[in-house]
Amino acid sequence: MQAIFEFGRALLCGLYPRRCCACLDEIDEGRRWGLCPLCEAALLPTGAGRCPVCGRPRPGLPLRFVGEPCRTCAAAPPPFDRAIAPYQHGGPLALALSRFKYDDKPAAAKPLGQLLARAARGFLRSGALQLPDLVLPVPLHKKRLRQRGYNQSALLAREVCRTLNLPFSLDALARIRDTPSQVRQGSRTARSRNLEGAITVMRPETLRARTVLLIDDVFTSGATAAACSKALRTAKPASVHVLTLTRKD
Ligand SMILES: [Zn+2]
Ligand SMILES: [Zn+2]
Repeated sequence: MQAIFEFGRALLCGLYPRRCCACLDEIDEGRRWGLCPLCEAALLPTGAGRCPVCGRPRPGLPLRFVGEPCRTCAAAPPPFDRAIAPYQHGGPLALALSRFKYDDKPAAAKPLGQLLARAARGFLRSGALQLPDLVLPVPLHKKRLRQRGYNQSALLAREVCRTLNLPFSLDALARIRDTPSQVRQGSRTARSRNLEGAITVMRPETLRARTVLLIDDVFTSGATAAACSKALRTAKPASVHVLTLTRKD
C-alpha cells in the first residue's frame, strides 16, 4: 500500500513525465532547474543597486553611496548581517514556489534547490556571502509540518548543502508557537508582532562563534528572517546571513 502511495506521489510531483515546475509544460530530461526554456528565460534577477544589509532596492542612489547600508539599516541594523536573494518574486518562480509550498510538490525542492545553490556559489565567490559553518532552514511549527508533510525551506537548504557540500542542521532552530500565516498579516509591524517569541534556538552550543546561513524560500517583509536571526543571536554566532530564492521587493 505504501509503495502504491509513494508511486502515486512521484507521479503527482512531476517526476514522470517531467514537467516545468512553473508552467507544467512537459520538459526534456536533463533540463536544469526543472524549468522549461521560456520560464527559465523569464527569471527576474534582483540585480545591483540594493542595500548590502537588508537587500532592499535603492533606485536612483548616487554612485558614491553604493555599497553603503540604507538609512533604515544605518539607523537600526537588523539582527542579520545580510539578506540576499538572486531573484525577484514574480513570473515563473512565484508560480513554482507556490506549487512547491502549497500543492504537495516536494520533488520541486531538487531543481529549485539547485537553482539556489548556483546562486549561493556565485555569492560565495563574489564575497557577498561568507562560507557558512552551518546552514539552517527557517523552521516550521510541527502542526504545519504535519499538514504540509514537509518544510519547504528545509528541503531547499538540504539541496543547497548537498550540492555545495556544506554542513546542514535541521533542528538548531525551532518554531515553538504556531502563528497565523504571515501571508495574512498586513504591515511589517504586524508581521513582526505575529512572530514574537515563536522561534527559539534548540542547540546554542552548535552556533556559538559560527558563521550561520539561514535559508528560506521567499523574503517578504523580512520579519521571519529577523525573528529567526534574533533567536540565533542569543547563541552568539559570529554572523548570520539570510539567503532566499526570491524576494518580493
Ligand atoms: Zn515553464
Ligand atoms: Zn538596508
